[in-house]
Amino acid sequence: MSRILSGKVVIATHNAGKLVEMRELLAPFGVEAVSAGELGLPEPDETGTMFAENAAIKAHAAAQASGLPAFADDSGLCVDALDGAPGIFSARWAGAAKDFSGAMARILSELDRRGATDRRAHFVSALVLAWPDGHAELFEGRVFGDLVAPRGAAGFGYDPMFRPEGFERTFGEISSEEKHGVDWQSGDALSHRARAFVALAAACLRRPG
Ligand code: IMP
Repeated sequence: MSRILSGKVVIATHNAGKLVEMRELLAPFGVEAVSAGELGLPEPDETGTMFAENAAIKAHAAAQASGLPAFADDSGLCVDALDGAPGIFSARWAGAAKDFSGAMARILSELDRRGATDRRAHFVSALVLAWPDGHAELFEGRVFGDLVAPRGAAGFGYDPMFRPEGFERTFGEISSEEKHGVDWQSGDALSHRARAFVALAAACLRRPG
């Protein structure tokens, strides 16, 4: 049985973009979101070997430190012909300078170096909601597609090189609304994060009134 979230929740991120996205997703459910950054909570080391482990480390650390339920996500791009790389190291491939042009070039050159013609890849998002008593809920979302030479300036990270299945456009050419938006009537969503959030909402959130 899932536990229902109400009242206040900590978003365990120091990333302003993720915070905005999460606040927008949570707003219709009457949940007030404060960020780990706003509360001055420390950022734990992400020592896990899987997305879900890293999300759990962040969510439990924020729940313990704040005494409130906390919500964390970990995400990344997994390339089939690179045995799932960059995976949990997606942010690190861009380096401290957050050079995603360089990270995308590195993926394409690794594929060339291996003589790989398979361009399939997927994004993963693991969302963990943890309470101060140690209870936790995990939800995952994926979006499958293939990699192309980078196109478009929308989005962030690896978006310009990722073309979701059924689309000619890359995530770099798709609006944020189309990428992250949720059709709450049908539960349809495109991005890995939005898909994970739909699963979380079904289990742990209720609309007020
Ligand atoms: P995290 O903050 O550890 O979850 O880092 C995730 C990293 O994966 C980001 O820095 C991006 O490089 C990549 N990533 C995750 N989601 C997306 C997405 O929706 N578009 C593009 N890149 C993404």
